[in-house]
Amino acid sequence: MYNKLSSRANEFIDHDEIIASLNYAKKNRDNTKLHYELLEKAKSLKGLNHREAAILLGAKDPAVIDAMKAIAREIKLKFYGNRIVLFAPLYLSNYCVNGCVYCPYHAKNKMIPRLKLTQEEIRDEVIALQDMGHKRLALELGEDPVHNPLEYVLESIRTIYATKHKNGAIRRVNVNIAATDVASYRKLKEVGIGTYILFQETYNKDNYEQQHPTGPKADYAYHTEAMDRAMEGGIDDVGLGVLFGLENYHYELVGLLMHAEHLEAKFGVGPHTISVPRICPADDIDTSDFSNALDDTTFEKIIALIRIAVPYTGMIISTRESMTMREKALELGVSQISGGSRTAVGGYIKDIEEKSAQFDVSDTRSLNEVINWLLELGHIPSFCTACYREGRTGDRFMSLLKSGQIVNCCHPNALITLKEYMEDYGTQRTKVLGDDVIAKSLDMITNDKVRAKTAAYLQKIEEGERDFRF
Ligand code: SF4
Repeated sequence: MYNKLSSRANEFIDHDEIIASLNYAKKNRDNTKLHYELLEKAKSLKGLNHREAAILLGAKDPAVIDAMKAIAREIKLKFYGNRIVLFAPLYLSNYCVNGCVYCPYHAKNKMIPRLKLTQEEIRDEVIALQDMGHKRLALELGEDPVHNPLEYVLESIRTIYATKHKNGAIRRVNVNIAATDVASYRKLKEVGIGTYILFQETYNKDNYEQQHPTGPKADYAYHTEAMDRAMEGGIDDVGLGVLFGLENYHYELVGLLMHAEHLEAKFGVGPHTISVPRICPADDIDTSDFSNALDDTTFEKIIALIRIAVPYTGMIISTRESMTMREKALELGVSQISGGSRTAVGGYIKDIEEKSAQFDVSDTRSLNEVINWLLELGHIPSFCTACYREGRTGDRFMSLLKSGQIVNCCHPNALITLKEYMEDYGTQRTKVLGDDVIAKSLDMITNDKVRAKTAAYLQKIEEGERDFRF
């Protein structure tokens, strides 16, 4: 029985409720009047519930889809402005005891070299990432209690924060590790993680069990209830995501939004981010084995719909996607992207075998190329980590967003961190493009004092000082 306040996975992600929503959506596939009513609701920034989103996902009328995308663009600009936050994944280990059929790290794959970074290698990788200009990382590693115990993860995070090289510093470490218990989440919180990210992969329990035939991850309920335990452990920034392509996308979108509604109802704060990975090629993985793999047109529609359904949630897209798709995704609502990524363990310091990568990278540009591209498109690349460092997480972050004060907080922080990047790592072209964007963007700060302070910080950064924030 569906109950969004329940702690049980099969009640807050209730299969019957998903099917009922999909059937209702099917019946209203051609109900254009209802589609426009829902779009009006979305325009008022109230978001959409899972059933409403299911209806719009079923809409076929090109005019409705265009209107949906236009609203997504508006919402993106209203809440996130033209800022795009940058991060890089850091793969610590590809040892894994699970049997996920879509991932080359699965335990039965004997073709890939198994690698795990030492603390010394982590330091070297972090220095390489700092030298690119990164300030925010997402840690990635397989599940393996022997090779990758929690103590290894905690020690690695301490190493990352302690590594300082020239003006570089990693200021926020997000963590993508297997579902664990409340005590372990508490330890992750204590060591100072940013967002805890865990992709659901698929919300369909039967399909989930087929995709995860062996290993601890095979337990659907334990995996699905992980965010509840993370919240109980004090982590109030959590990141959701499904791996689009495993299951019918209508089912996944409804499940994803039900999960967000559950967190909001039970803990008073929805997901901090939603990622939108989709099945892509990798060693031992052929996308043609996945009949639900998404085409680009549907993918764009899903991105727009997530943007209007959960307007306060950040959206992430990785270098799995091509430059062209990322450009479209940025317009439609994505607020964070990775840049200059290596998806192999040790990939930032070694010319490592591609085979140890978790997935093939489509966007292979360097971070600097990505930054210049963003600037040319009129976006403001941001390396800001201020909210997390100021304790503005969970509902405190959400209230900042909802108050509309981001123009006097996130926006100046983006300009300050962009300036740091330009000074320390930018090419001449970056400086020209960046100065132009900063000059145009300063006026958008509505609070006179904040504007003046931002200008003063920018000047100080030019003179060699670092790490200012609002
Ligand atoms: S998805 Fe994660 S848990 Fe599954 S095989 Fe890959 S690394 Fe292991």
